[in-house]
Amino acid sequence: MSARDYVEKDYYAALGVSKTASQADIKKAYRKLARQHHPDANKGDAASEEKFKEISEAYDVLSDETKRKEYDEARTLFGAGGFRVPRGGGGNGQGVPFDLGDLFGGGAGGGGLGDIFGTIFGGGRGRGPQAARRGGDVEAEVTLSFTDAANGVTVPLQLSTPSTCPTCHGSGAKPGTATRVCPVCSGTGSQSRNAGGFAFAEPCRECFGRGLLVDDPCVTCAGTGEAISTRALRARIPAGVKDGQRIRLAGKGTPGERGGPAGDLIVTVHVHPHDVFGRKGDNLTLTLPVTFPEAALGATVRVPTLGGAPVSVKIPAGTTSGRTLRVRGKGLTRRDGTRGDLLVTVEVAVPKTLSDDARAALASYAEAQHDDPRAHLSKLVTAND
Ligand SMILES: [Zn+2]
Ligand SMILES: [Zn+2]
Repeated sequence: MSARDYVEKDYYAALGVSKTASQADIKKAYRKLARQHHPDANKGDAASEEKFKEISEAYDVLSDETKRKEYDEARTLFGAGGFRVPRGGGGNGQGVPFDLGDLFGGGAGGGGLGDIFGTIFGGGRGRGPQAARRGGDVEAEVTLSFTDAANGVTVPLQLSTPSTCPTCHGSGAKPGTATRVCPVCSGTGSQSRNAGGFAFAEPCRECFGRGLLVDDPCVTCAGTGEAISTRALRARIPAGVKDGQRIRLAGKGTPGERGGPAGDLIVTVHVHPHDVFGRKGDNLTLTLPVTFPEAALGATVRVPTLGGAPVSVKIPAGTTSGRTLRVRGKGLTRRDGTRGDLLVTVEVAVPKTLSDDARAALASYAEAQHDDPRAHLSKLVTAND
């Protein structure tokens, strides 16, 4: 249904009801007429077919309170039938071409009726071709190094977004030529299909729902009226993003149409793992191998930090493998500027090969040390022997 139809067609007359008719009256009138003019009952009767289309369209609008209200408003504004638009196609075979752009504000100057219709049919509801519309959200993906993700980074992005063809301004017609109203759907872009005595609207197959036909297509866009525009922009990824996190950057998506706000840019972030550091929330993790003497006797070990100077970590004497030591403030930067911690997990390294001296020393050690680390298991082991 187009705005043009609203002004031009008298849906009340089509159904033979008054402007104040109730929904029940409208339904009753439609059913009666639909039975009478149904294509199944009037095979090959072009006039009946036309009438059936007319009443289906009228019912589609008047049976929907919202559409009916818009229809009434449009008719009030322009006066019923007082605003004539030449019709293309039809039975006379000499379709009158006209440029809808002139009437509906598609041209460079904008303005004209398009803006008025845009107002009538409200912003954002998508009704009518001229309503102000919010731009779409755009999805993008970036892959960051672990360090960039931790510190935050500004990444350049190339975004391809659908836009209006700059050559034909979206009409799809070669400049200087005109589009014409689709004769199949009379410019509505939809056709009625019948099932079980009821009419369903579906997109017109002739014009693919545009309501317009292009005889001489624009070379730039091959008649689609659309173009792909590439935008370069820089997206700020905040410090501390996680792998798989989605960042919404308001207003960086597709620009709005006719004064509508821009959509958002949604960036899905992938983060490469680090060779050494891991993450646990705002904390960084690090596995620190130590020797058995270091764990047993205690030691001070130099530990790297992410993007900063190394720190000294004190391994207390008697540290067991798997114990985690906390280095405060050496984790990831939080939103409020404070930082998480570096969690250092001690892992006692066992040498794969031993020198003769080391082997002899370990044998002496085993002789000297009589603690049984499995004392708590020995009872169970004996019981089941
Ligand atoms: Zn074009
Ligand atoms: Zn059509």
